[in-house]
Amino acid sequence: MREIARTAGTPTFVYSRATLEGHLDRLREAFAPIDPLICYSVKSCGNLSVLRTLAARGAGMDVVSIGELQRALEAGVPASRCVYAGVGKRDDEIAAAIDGGIGLLNVESEAEFENIARIAAEREKVVRCALRINPDVDPKTHRYTSTGKKETKFGVDLERARRFFQLYGRDRFAKLEGLHLHIGSPIYTVEPYVEALTKTCALIEELAKDGIEIRSIDLGGGFGADYETAQSPSARDYAAAILPLMLPLKARGVEFFLEPGRSIAANAGVLLLRVLYTKDSGEKHFAICDAGMNALLRPSHYGSFHFIWPVRPQAGFVPTQRSSNMAMEGLRAQDIVGPLCESGDFLAVDRAMPPLARGDLLAVFTAGAYGMSMASRYNSSPLPAEVLVSGNRVELIRRRETVDDLVEHERNVTVLL
Ligand SMILES: *Cc1c(COP(=O)(O)O)cnc(C)c1O
Repeated sequence: MREIARTAGTPTFVYSRATLEGHLDRLREAFAPIDPLICYSVKSCGNLSVLRTLAARGAGMDVVSIGELQRALEAGVPASRCVYAGVGKRDDEIAAAIDGGIGLLNVESEAEFENIARIAAEREKVVRCALRINPDVDPKTHRYTSTGKKETKFGVDLERARRFFQLYGRDRFAKLEGLHLHIGSPIYTVEPYVEALTKTCALIEELAKDGIEIRSIDLGGGFGADYETAQSPSARDYAAAILPLMLPLKARGVEFFLEPGRSIAANAGVLLLRVLYTKDSGEKHFAICDAGMNALLRPSHYGSFHFIWPVRPQAGFVPTQRSSNMAMEGLRAQDIVGPLCESGDFLAVDRAMPPLARGDLLAVFTAGAYGMSMASRYNSSPLPAEVLVSGNRVELIRRRETVDDLVEHERNVTVLL
């Protein structure tokens, strides 16, 4: 890590190819009895080299904008292996997805379906659609990432779903034939999945009575990652709870999709930072780093925990247990903060860590998902570099931005009106 920081500088996201592949493989093995197409969620970490790594291992992609679809295509994933969700798809995005031959369009409302059907009919092209249903379960996660409750903006509730199929289930071009769920993220227990899928199975039986056959089920993502040691069920735990509900449908020929993001990328990445200054204010000890919420928004945005530890030159002690309440000798409570002009610019508050000093290199763990993809240029901070480690090979997969990059689009002014 010290060599990477020396050559790539900081802040830098460092990803492990073996971990990305291992997480994908574990999900595939766990869910093998329903043989799903595993569509990696591009929004969790969309670097082209990360996408290529997963695509080479057989992943499809889950996209939520046409920009993400372009990334997937550029990484060599055919559109037919991509699923596309999102509450606010523009007409040009829908048209491009249909023209490109998207695998599945996940529909979030009546108004959107009518628009998709119109655009598909205009082009005389058939597009497979799945209705995103909102099974009204509480995933017990942060309210910003809870997406399966009745009062969220996503999907339609179960009563409306039946009516939806009655109304639109026989469209010639927009073939509404699947169900899609994504109830939130991260979901640290299996129960919300079981509850949601039990309701989904009941809906499928009702639809069957209406003469409508469901051909595909997209189970979404949301599987947890270990921000703290042993915090999350394993792929096998989730599968053990979900498979009994899905196997009877598999026997009837239903096709399955999964959309994992966090469970693949989060623990495949660390963020490397440098401590610029330390400072004591009253009782508080601050370590001011060369990036904060601009590189990793999650602590500030969701109040999330990320384990942080110094990377020291001498074989320093690194705890094998990552937890928010480390009780070890020689630690003291410190705030790990960034340089931005914003009190919310922190990565950890009152965190027990070895006393830090100027020049220390810090590793922020479990930063692969929703790290770089949510990073911002606030305070004119250029985006971090990204590095991929594959065995002994270390590649720069996104060069660090420069201030020149930031002002580039502002240099030329065009008169509009
Ligand atoms: C964000 C998202 C995912 C991925 O969620 P993870 O928690 O990263 O697995 C999957 N599906 C949809 C529709 C999403 O919006």
